Amino acid sequence: MTIDRLKQSQLMSKEISDLIISHEKVAHVQLQNPLDHALLILIKSGYTAIPVLDNDFRVRGQISKNEILDSILGLERLEIERLHDITVETVMKKKIPRLKTDTTFSKALTTSINHPFICIEDEEASFVGILTRSSILALVNRYFQQST
Ligand code: AMP
Repeated sequence: MTIDRLKQSQLMSKEISDLIISHEKVAHVQLQNPLDHALLILIKSGYTAIPVLDNDFRVRGQISKNEILDSILGLERLEIERLHDITVETVMKKKIPRLKTDTTFSKALTTSINHPFICIEDEEASFVGILTRSSILALVNRYFQQST
């Protein structure tokens, strides 16, 4: 095997644990939070979407500004007064990718193609943190810069 091939296979088989943004630093909301609270967290954090957790700190979905605004879209206006009466659980996206901390970089790279961030869980399915597409691309970039 050439040195380049060896480095490539080391990168691809590396575990993602070093790249994870720990849960303490991740903005999130809970299932029963009203949408006005979720919108506040999204606007204050500056993120488009954030994870939704349950009371046992398990990942149940993701919620985005777009889903919130879409849920209060009336015929002629945004019905902002409804924000307090709808819960996060009602409008969140439930089908989201999840990976374990010992997942390989190769699997994370493939998953990140369609997702700006991926929720990471431990063996008991508790929320560990997130892996962002930008951190994956930064590592790929570093790999190519070093190879040229
Ligand atoms: P980035 O690659 O840093 O632009 O992040 C991609 C996406 O991951 C953001 O748009 C957010 O949806 C999510 N994200 C990144 N960092 C955080 C964080 N600290 N808390 C919550 N969501 C985050």
